[in-house]
Amino acid sequence: MIKASICTIGDEILIGQTVDTNSSNISRALNGIGVKVGRMVSIADSHDDIMGTLDAELGRNDIVIVTGGLGPTKDDITKKALYDLSGATSYKTDESQLEIIHHILSSRGLDLLEINLAQASVPNTCDVITNRLGTAPVMVFRFPESRYGHKATLYSLPGVPYEAIGAMEDVLGDIRQNYRSGDIYHKNIMTFGLAESALSELIEPWENSLPEHVSLAYLPDPVNGVKLRLTSYLGDRNTQEAEIAGLTASLREILGDYIYSEEEDSLAACVGRLLERAGKTVSCAESCTGGTIASLFTSVPGSSAYFLGSVTSYANSVKTGVLGVPEEILDEHGAVSSETVAAMAEGVRRITGSDYAVSTSGIAGPGGGSAEKPVGTVWVGVASRSGVETFTVRYSSDRKRNIERFSAFTLNKLRIRLLNELSL
Ligand code: ATP
Ligand code: MG
Repeated sequence: MIKASICTIGDEILIGQTVDTNSSNISRALNGIGVKVGRMVSIADSHDDIMGTLDAELGRNDIVIVTGGLGPTKDDITKKALYDLSGATSYKTDESQLEIIHHILSSRGLDLLEINLAQASVPNTCDVITNRLGTAPVMVFRFPESRYGHKATLYSLPGVPYEAIGAMEDVLGDIRQNYRSGDIYHKNIMTFGLAESALSELIEPWENSLPEHVSLAYLPDPVNGVKLRLTSYLGDRNTQEAEIAGLTASLREILGDYIYSEEEDSLAACVGRLLERAGKTVSCAESCTGGTIASLFTSVPGSSAYFLGSVTSYANSVKTGVLGVPEEILDEHGAVSSETVAAMAEGVRRITGSDYAVSTSGIAGPGGGSAEKPVGTVWVGVASRSGVETFTVRYSSDRKRNIERFSAFTLNKLRIRLLNELSL
């Protein structure tokens, strides 16, 4: 795996005047050819800082990409630092860049000044990649293994974003020619039901045994659970696919039903697929989630095949009047209770004639909580022909997040029920 560091130079970045867009653009370009960026550093326009930082970055990376600090002002601090770092003994003029400088200035009707000519002058230790979009050339410093213990290459690019991006194409070509770089292969595994910390504890031994060229990222989302992203930085596509498939199989053994999909996916889409494959339908009775579950279902294309509808039964009068929840249940147990959500789910299943039904009743907050039923508490019902089950859980987010989590929790309970009941 080829390791790279991106270093941006300029006081304007450090004082917050210029947003460092170069780093992300360059990183994306490097990723595309299988080079892994391990660090991004921003350095002041200071000779010693530039020299010290670049020296250290070359020490731990195969490739260092530098942008900025090559403007015609500031007394060429960057160039001087690169001169010293590379042990140059003189400057040379790059004729091809000089020609472009002439061309750019004359097309703008400007006279050629000493300061412009100086831009074509580079340390005698570097190769030049011509910058066709601007006046400062790209300098390439190649350090032999004897210097840092590994072959290291530094590319110094202009700071102007479109010139930097423009130069990257040639830089990538040079990297390909001088390093054999593999593809980057990603695989997403969608999990639900374990918080990030619990998930990481459970898979720790597996994670620790991952080879060095494979990395794992945890990407949590309140509605779709924790996405695990495996990335391989070594080998060709086929090798990578086979290796990641093996690692995924061993992860599946540990996580079982916590994994709901092995590609980029939403929980609602996954539940929808299960229903569609079995030819079953679903409906909802939503109190505290106010239609969010219906919205999650219907945001999936083709959901009309299995989603029948939802009753937003927010008021008790709708729970009793429309869904037929007995008043005694509400009086005795309250709206946020196992008994109520059970009656809600059965009620909506009866009204719509769906095979499955889910229901929610809870306290999204910020008000309305009590010692017995604090804010963030939800009861959820899942009904089918084989009966109704209820579940409760408590979250501690704000109102919007709680509603999203309640909805996702419900979808997941339905998913587990479907996995158990349907022979898919
Ligand atoms: P010097 O730093 O040599 O005095 P300069 O600042 O004009 O000259 P560069 O540092 O090459 O020249 O920057 C040129 C322009 O590109 C500046 O306007 C700067 O704001 C912008 N720039 C520099 N670095 C970045 C970066 N990392 N991301 C986005 N824009 C940048
Ligand atoms: Mg600058």
